[in-house]
Amino acid sequence: MQQMIYLDHNATTPVDPRVLEEMLPYFNEKFGNAASRNHAFGWEADEAVQHAREQISSLIGSKPQEIIFTSGATESNNLAIKGVAKELATIGNHIITCETEHKAVLDPIKQLETSGFKVTYLPVDENGIIDFIELKAAITDQTILVSIMYANNETGVIQPMKKIAELLKERNVLFMTDATQAVGKISIDVNDLQIDLMSFSGHKMYGPKGAGGLYVKSNVKIGAQIEGGGHERGMRSGTLNVPGIVGLGKACELSGMEMQEETARLWSLREKLEQATLKIPRTRLNGHTDHRLPHVSNMSFEDVDGEKLLLSLNEIAISQGSACTSATFEPSHVLKAMGVSDDLAFATLRFGLGRFTTEEEIDVVIEKIEKAVTQLRK
Ligand code: PMP
Repeated sequence: MQQMIYLDHNATTPVDPRVLEEMLPYFNEKFGNAASRNHAFGWEADEAVQHAREQISSLIGSKPQEIIFTSGATESNNLAIKGVAKELATIGNHIITCETEHKAVLDPIKQLETSGFKVTYLPVDENGIIDFIELKAAITDQTILVSIMYANNETGVIQPMKKIAELLKERNVLFMTDATQAVGKISIDVNDLQIDLMSFSGHKMYGPKGAGGLYVKSNVKIGAQIEGGGHERGMRSGTLNVPGIVGLGKACELSGMEMQEETARLWSLREKLEQATLKIPRTRLNGHTDHRLPHVSNMSFEDVDGEKLLLSLNEIAISQGSACTSATFEPSHVLKAMGVSDDLAFATLRFGLGRFTTEEEIDVVIEKIEKAVTQLRK
């Protein structure tokens, strides 16, 4: 592969070498099953899993036993949404979510719709933020769950979590958030924010793929989706992925330790990128300028063919929309919900900066984009 600049950290991140180092012994030397109670191999693995629970808990302000390990955020979202539906189906049949959610939330909810659940899809304004008044109006005595993502994977837009949570506590409705793009990037305290369920994933924060988790507040009960053995307090059976969990734990620890510094560095690199790119005529920024993750930028270029733009930037690993929907060649549902036209949505780039992004790389990217857009408009 030619030397490329990687600016797609919302799709996935490289495993931090310090994370990899921590994981390696758990593939061979320390290979025990964390559920083996009768010998030291099992105890050693279990100890590593408990340590990871503590590392994750310190990052998000939970208790260690409130973490349920899964294979990633897709599974966590499915477990949270279907698990609440299974547990509370006799209490109510209404769920509220938002049009700009990730498919890993929208699809399980759609599945529930086919079995009789009623769903409200909240619209967003042109900045990508939900309308709080509409949320308030949508809650009925049948509402059992509100699922609103913390930060959007395409635009980085952060929803007003605290305000939503306060309302939901008042109305006694469970609050679930897909925080896959936010955990490890911005400071989150599940207690302070009164979140009931929260999904996250290792590979979005310099940890391994295939390891993620769901925070389930201790007084919240959800029905299992995978049964067999009763692991993870009966909510998710299956032998634990010990190396993956060790990596996820270490990734959380590092993110917590380095967050302040990393945020400041990436914020200033993004400023540089945006200031230069937005000088190109007929270029616009999508998403709220302030309520946004520090390392994400979503910009559209009028009168430019999106496919050709990507082709001419072939030395930059960058995304046109979200990686998970780009196979369908449909305009991004997130940008559409924000009122962006189909043509402009195709001519949009999502920049995801990361831990190993350098200023020199940003300088190269700025130069290449200016050149490509000017050329394609000729
Ligand atoms: N939710 C969001 C917001 C995401 O960005 C992603 C990853 N694209 C997922 C869920 C799915 O995560 P995973 O790859 O861990 O299943």
